[in-house]
Amino acid sequence: MEIKVELAKTLKQKPTDESKLGFGSIFTDHMFVMPYDGGQGWHDPKIIPYGPIALEPSAMCLHYGQEVFEGMKAYRTASGDIRLFRPEKNMARLNSSNDRLCIPPIDEAFAVHAVKELVGIDKDWVPHQEGTSLYIRPFIIAIDPHVGVHPAKHLLFMIILSPVGAYYPQGLDPVDIYVENQYVRAVRGGMGFVKTAGNYAASLKAQEEAEKQNYTQVLWLDGVERKYIEEVGTMNVFFVIDGEVVTPSLDGSTLPGITRMSSIELMRSWGMQVTERKLSIEEVYEAAQNGKLDEAFGTGTAAVISPIGSLKWGDKMMHINDGKIGPISQRLYDELTGIQFGTKPDPMGWTVSIFD
Ligand SMILES: *Cc1c(COP(=O)(O)O)cnc(C)c1O
Repeated sequence: MEIKVELAKTLKQKPTDESKLGFGSIFTDHMFVMPYDGGQGWHDPKIIPYGPIALEPSAMCLHYGQEVFEGMKAYRTASGDIRLFRPEKNMARLNSSNDRLCIPPIDEAFAVHAVKELVGIDKDWVPHQEGTSLYIRPFIIAIDPHVGVHPAKHLLFMIILSPVGAYYPQGLDPVDIYVENQYVRAVRGGMGFVKTAGNYAASLKAQEEAEKQNYTQVLWLDGVERKYIEEVGTMNVFFVIDGEVVTPSLDGSTLPGITRMSSIELMRSWGMQVTERKLSIEEVYEAAQNGKLDEAFGTGTAAVISPIGSLKWGDKMMHINDGKIGPISQRLYDELTGIQFGTKPDPMGWTVSIFD
């Protein structure tokens, strides 16, 4: 399929101070749009000027949440290249989300091609300052004008781009986490393993209450027993207990992060033992009590690695590594960002140029 391009007649002013980009509130000049219509399939892909879209108020995504999305980044390297990190994994995950939400599958290779074309057109929006990047948000919405619960026959696949600031302008600062033992974000058999709007709507209340108590993020426990650890905020989570790296296994309610997968592969390539298994909050608390909780960190595209300084579980407090970043968290952060920004070799072949 050929992508038709309609360029913007006037370009927007780009942010001049890249230290103030923040996250997700500035958008570039163009966007990608491809409709799906029953009988016709995905068709007529276009890159057009970024702007509002017209929807019927009855559009199904507005009522029943038939929506899926992805989150990835483009990185500018010192040599002037612009690279993506394992984009084929994002598109494979998008199709797994599609399957769960009864959305027709997309052509994964074509979707990566669409990302490259769009980023290529808006390449001057990829920021230059260290640690900054261009956030890429592919998403699909159901747009049938119909108030009734059925899988849609008309959808839109769109990609929008947003220049984002360095997550840690002052270096990696461990965060304080609130262990949530009332609300849950997902249950097995539900949609926890896919990136779909409803999961994030379900998480807002707990996040708001944690913030009120000055915690940065929520640690989610399983939806049945409030016993087993699932994720932290919108990141996967790892613990280093007595020298062993442990992360919750993917049992259907946890999002299979690409940073999680890459971190596991990296640590194994370094000869470290990484175990994916059920991990209870009780076990983590006991490890902390016995001085065996060496490190804890979250992983995700936005922050890459987010070290955890403390966990509050009911009236119990766990302090980790004196509130300082641990050696494994630091090494993973350095290695992953080094590969992404091209300052370190990429022996696994994880990055691709948008110009190839
Ligand atoms: C996106 C996301 C992650 C992290 O996935 P990455 O592919 O590493 O960015 C983890 N948990 C949730 C709930 C997410 O939405």
